Amino acid sequence: LYNEVQDLKGNIRVFCRVRPAGATGDASAGCTEIGEDGELALYNPRSGMRKQFKYDRVFGAGSSQEEVYEDTKALIRSVLDGYNVCIFAYGQTGSGKTHTMAGSDVEDYAGRGINYRALDDLFAINEERQGEAEYVVRVQLLEIYNEQLRDLLDSSRSGRRLEIRNTERSGLNVPEATQVDVSSREEVVRVMEIGARNRAVAETKMNERSSRSHSVLTVIVDGISHITGQRTHGCLHLIDLAGSERVGRSEATGDRLEEAKHINRSLSALGDVMAALAQRNTKHVPFRNSKLTQLLQDSLCGQAKAMMFIHIAPEESSHGESISTLGFGARVSEI
Ligand code: ADP
Ligand code: MG
Repeated sequence: LYNEVQDLKGNIRVFCRVRPAGATGDASAGCTEIGEDGELALYNPRSGMRKQFKYDRVFGAGSSQEEVYEDTKALIRSVLDGYNVCIFAYGQTGSGKTHTMAGSDVEDYAGRGINYRALDDLFAINEERQGEAEYVVRVQLLEIYNEQLRDLLDSSRSGRRLEIRNTERSGLNVPEATQVDVSSREEVVRVMEIGARNRAVAETKMNERSSRSHSVLTVIVDGISHITGQRTHGCLHLIDLAGSERVGRSEATGDRLEEAKHINRSLSALGDVMAALAQRNTKHVPFRNSKLTQLLQDSLCGQAKAMMFIHIAPEESSHGESISTLGFGARVSEI
């Protein structure tokens, strides 16, 4: 494991995206300032407090979906070459995670998020390599809610709990999960629609569930080179994390408090794993502490690359949450 973990060194990148102020109807003043070369300052005009952070890149309110996707493009090629790639969206509810991953308006090409763009490129590269290599692409869509895995592509078994097994082959460690063969972007869009519908069913039973669960879209790519005969296996995980907001004991009781505990625990387990992987001389990576990190263990141990998009709501009312999100990003960043 030690040697394999080394492969992720230099392969974790952290990007910060600040969504436009007022997108969620909050009229309070903005309190972020974007500098050059990945710098971001958070200030509080009342107290005069100012804190500076640095990431691989910072995207402001004016950044398009296309610009935000730019750095992901190269990683898609590496999935076809047999690498594992994890892309995470982290941030409080309303900060723009789903906007980054799925996009807000799928009908409108400019509004499409990373998920669609990544799959578009995957099939485009596949096309480019016709004759040279052949790939089989499968997708799987899971939700982790209260530390339980649910298959979003199988509505008939929605009550069933899925178990994670050790396999060492990325993307195959949930043997009961539905995996759908896809050969075009249109097919993937159809699969995603099924997932969204199944998620919406759970949502009406439990209001706003999507902000309190992690959704993990996994694309598994098996290839064979016609030239060398070499086989490749790569896996792309696109992860829209549960809202990172801290829920105080005073605000939450019963089910809500239970959900909040599970979210806090799994997000800090993710932070611990990423921080351990980002460090030099990592001896121990604590994968076992949450379902999410267990699910991703095989992918993060092999030849892996990871990207974390941390999301900031710029309004003053989110100041406390922004500090905590920026701190999370700084901890897992290698800069
Ligand atoms: P989250 O998934 O983190 O809860 P959403 O992605 O749902 O947040 O974003 C909250 C709202 O803000 C949505 O209405 C979304 O369309 C809008 N929004 C988020 N980010 C942007 C952005 N970069 N540009 C324009 N609108 C955005
Ligand atoms: Mg969301």
